[in-house]
Amino acid sequence: MLEVEQSFKVHLKISKNDLNVNSFINSCNEIGKNVSRTFFVNLFKEAQETQLMHYLGAPWHETSGILTPWECPRCGARAGFKRRGSRPRILKTSCGEITFPLRQVTCNDCGKTFSPFPALFGLEKWQRISQELEQKFCHIVKDMSYRKTANLGNEFFDLNVSPRTVHKTVQKYGTRAKIIEDLSHISHLQVDSTKINASNNERGIDVHLAISLGPTEQKNGRTVRKKTLVSVQVSESPSEVKQLLRKSQVDQLTVDGKSGLEKFITDEKIPTAIQRCLWHIPRTAVHMMYLDGYSYISGREFVSPLKYLLFDESLAVKTRLERYNSFIEECRIAGCMKTVNFLENAASDLYTYKQFADSDIHGRTNSVIERQMREINRRMENGTRWTPTGANNLLNLKLIEELNPDSYAYLWKLRKNKSCKFEVILC
Ligand SMILES: [Zn+2]
Repeated sequence: MLEVEQSFKVHLKISKNDLNVNSFINSCNEIGKNVSRTFFVNLFKEAQETQLMHYLGAPWHETSGILTPWECPRCGARAGFKRRGSRPRILKTSCGEITFPLRQVTCNDCGKTFSPFPALFGLEKWQRISQELEQKFCHIVKDMSYRKTANLGNEFFDLNVSPRTVHKTVQKYGTRAKIIEDLSHISHLQVDSTKINASNNERGIDVHLAISLGPTEQKNGRTVRKKTLVSVQVSESPSEVKQLLRKSQVDQLTVDGKSGLEKFITDEKIPTAIQRCLWHIPRTAVHMMYLDGYSYISGREFVSPLKYLLFDESLAVKTRLERYNSFIEECRIAGCMKTVNFLENAASDLYTYKQFADSDIHGRTNSVIERQMREINRRMENGTRWTPTGANNLLNLKLIEELNPDSYAYLWKLRKNKSCKFEVILC
């Protein structure tokens, strides 16, 4: 237990012209940041002193018998060190830039002088930004460009961080972010893909997304379905999803009809049933009618009965299929052969979801993943040409933060309980 007590005397001057609530708040925020910086320096000093006292004994009377939690970087010695002053270290944090002294020690065996404290207190060797600040940047950047994130962060935290630094931070944590949720018992998967502008391909490159829907839960008085990110992959082929389909027992895969996974499942004889997204069927049918020579307006009108028919849960599946087939006949009579082909191809995969849970209709459309895809498009379409790795790292962070709380906490080593207790006494 480390205990630090600090007394502050704050002297605040506000000019006559600024006597209003907004300037009071701004002044208080400034005080807060200043106090935080001062307190941090003292806390860090105290933490180092406590360690030095415990392992080396009193200053000028250092003992060499106790094994230290650090070792000499040159000779590997674990005991026998002397205090040797300090050197300044600068760290950018969400309280602004802080300069604090790093205490150093000298090894009695080889004479090497170094500071054991960065490693002891979770600072990496060349780390110039605290992890809590990196986490804040990663949180902002998932919905904003690198430049805007840097500008916003600099304004809020009184810093001078470049977009390049934010980019580097995303690459660092985007690579580290891993899905740790147990995916082995997933039974239902929604998959979709979208194109993004990427540097090595004129036509863009695919983002393949797979989300699993779990049971419903109550959140703020609303019923929501638990969603888990299973894979986000920027590449030509959704190899991660294919790997998962091979390994685990996925009962149902909901697709919008152009994922390419249907062929993979047939070719590899994987026992996963396909559900075509019912929302996409009429939408694509309108486009097919356009290819058959109809305008979008008349196509939409022609196809509209299909929309109601597909979703009408009051009708038995058999009845719905009969009416679906009559609709195909109407298309044939109207001479829309491309539309007929499309609808015939989809016919066998319309009501797969009924096999798994008669009352549960969550698997009949791709609406959940569609919403995520729109979010992805919004973030990725900002005129930049992405590298596949850069895009993948950003999306990894964004989706893991939004969908997989356990993986996100693991990435940042977040602890559920507050790590310190404190009280503030105004006297
Ligand atoms: Zn040494």
